[in-house]
Amino acid sequence: MNDNTINPSSESTPQNFINEIIDEHLRTNKYEGRVNTRFPPEPNGYLHIGHAKSICLNFGLAKQYNGTCNLRFDDTNPTKEEVEYVDSIKEDINWLGFNWGKTEYYASDYFAQLYDWAEQLILAGKAYVCELNAEQIRAYRGTLTEPGKESPYRNRSVEENLDLFRRMKAGEFTDGSKTLRAKIDMASPNVNMRDPVMYRILHQEHHRTGATWNIYPMYDWAHGQSDSIEKITHSICTLEFENHRPLYDWFVEQLGIHHPLQIEFARLNLSYTVMSKRKLLQLVEDGFVKSWDDPRMPTISGLRRRGYTPESIRAFTDKIGVARRDNVIDVALLENCIREDLNKKALRRMAVLNPVRVIIDNYTEGLIEELDAVNNPEDTNAGSRKIEFSRELFIEHDDFMENPVSQFHRLSPGKEVRLRYAYIIKCNSIEKDADGNITAIHCEFDPETKSGTGTSKKKVKGTIHWVSAHNAVSVEVNLYDRLFSVEDPQGDKVIDWKEFINKESLITLPACKVEPALKDAAAGDKFQFERLGYFCVDKDSKPGSPVFNRTVTLRDSWAKIEKKNG
Ligand code: ATP
Ligand code: MG
Repeated sequence: MNDNTINPSSESTPQNFINEIIDEHLRTNKYEGRVNTRFPPEPNGYLHIGHAKSICLNFGLAKQYNGTCNLRFDDTNPTKEEVEYVDSIKEDINWLGFNWGKTEYYASDYFAQLYDWAEQLILAGKAYVCELNAEQIRAYRGTLTEPGKESPYRNRSVEENLDLFRRMKAGEFTDGSKTLRAKIDMASPNVNMRDPVMYRILHQEHHRTGATWNIYPMYDWAHGQSDSIEKITHSICTLEFENHRPLYDWFVEQLGIHHPLQIEFARLNLSYTVMSKRKLLQLVEDGFVKSWDDPRMPTISGLRRRGYTPESIRAFTDKIGVARRDNVIDVALLENCIREDLNKKALRRMAVLNPVRVIIDNYTEGLIEELDAVNNPEDTNAGSRKIEFSRELFIEHDDFMENPVSQFHRLSPGKEVRLRYAYIIKCNSIEKDADGNITAIHCEFDPETKSGTGTSKKKVKGTIHWVSAHNAVSVEVNLYDRLFSVEDPQGDKVIDWKEFINKESLITLPACKVEPALKDAAAGDKFQFERLGYFCVDKDSKPGSPVFNRTVTLRDSWAKIEKKNG
């Protein structure tokens, strides 16, 4: 038995329609009380957030029912599969907090058994070697409203079929020249039952079986039988396989082997996102993003690099639940899950992304004061830290307006604002360069207004963040945003989904100013930059010079934009 441990936490166990099916099976002792699921990725790309839903569901059910969940690589297509993908898939599942036991499974380990079973079907007169090419097979298949036509090769003798199939295996024929097909019913209302292809000829090396095979099984022939070999009880897949279920059932019944139940659920679709591996691969290959784990990608590795936690992704999959009807989930829900998680965990720090210098003219030159700053108001155990205050500071350019609009409660000429954890300051004058850019803001501070200890009762409407210029550290910050600028980049009417790539999905700021404590932040560390959002240290950062990735803003800024536009 393998151990499907989830990280310890108080996550509740969601109930869904699949629970009802399993509970009924347990009542009737259908599978001797066993619950054995599997997660069957094809190693032709990195896992994405949709896979995370399937992982949480399959491993979650195994845990809930004290069963097992196998990791099985569905590696039946040697042309598109790579070891890099196998490794990344394992890493991502582990990171999400799941464990598939001692060993992982590969459909390719069953090639010999699948081959023997194919001969068994031939001997039973249930499969034949066909010489129609792909196009002809399609034409003979008919349509949803018209029955198909029988292949002229359909009624070959068992001996001839066996001979040809063995020679296909031996590599005697060219790619595409023959297939092995199940002999079912060309008039079936279900197109999948119209003599589906079981094997194709492919003279191609496989990442695990090398040059052993010249024929490779099709998904429908490999999948159910692999489930059966592993004694899976509940084979959970997405809705597009619903029409394949009669074929799944037909194969295991003809062979008389263990019969798992295929159950379909609605795949996850996210707004502002494309999810198919084919499109994600194109984003990488065409250079729209830098890699599969680019923080803008909906891949698990991209989300991790962006600063998402496994807890936030699991909470998200719990929230969206499992249903039988297709729908689109608002990506804002995912973003909210990481906000909620980081709000509890992330240390607060001050960082100025777009700095402008403030000079406090009445503050003693050379004086440095230590002030107390809270590390995380949501977590009393996080304590506080000392931050240094001096005569020269950086504040955010956006927090100053020379000619303030109404309701602007931050700094402007003659106006006062509170510096977080420090004093109230008032702007007296500004300096500009020859082009009219502000180069310094001259202020005075009120010594009676020191945070916590000041005697002044003065109140101001705005509080802004800052860092002291004397010890600020310069860092690079990547402001990541949604990769697509429209809700449904792959909708029916869309001709080229790549047109909707958000041109501002990455803005790199090379010289932001941050508290000195952040200099030693390690790859993966997560922080809330006060008033700005959640940020994490990029995985490729060098020690001592962290690069920060914005995970998410503090609030959903897209909701505001949409309201304005709508
Ligand atoms: P894609 O369509 O994104 O290319 P796929 O279905 O071909 O993905 P597989 O590697 O075959 O990817 O999928 C492994 C498992 O993950 C399957 O059981 C599949 O049903 C499930 N899965 C894939 N995409 C989603 C999704 N968007 N939501 C939920 N489950 C998914
Ligand atoms: Mg697939």
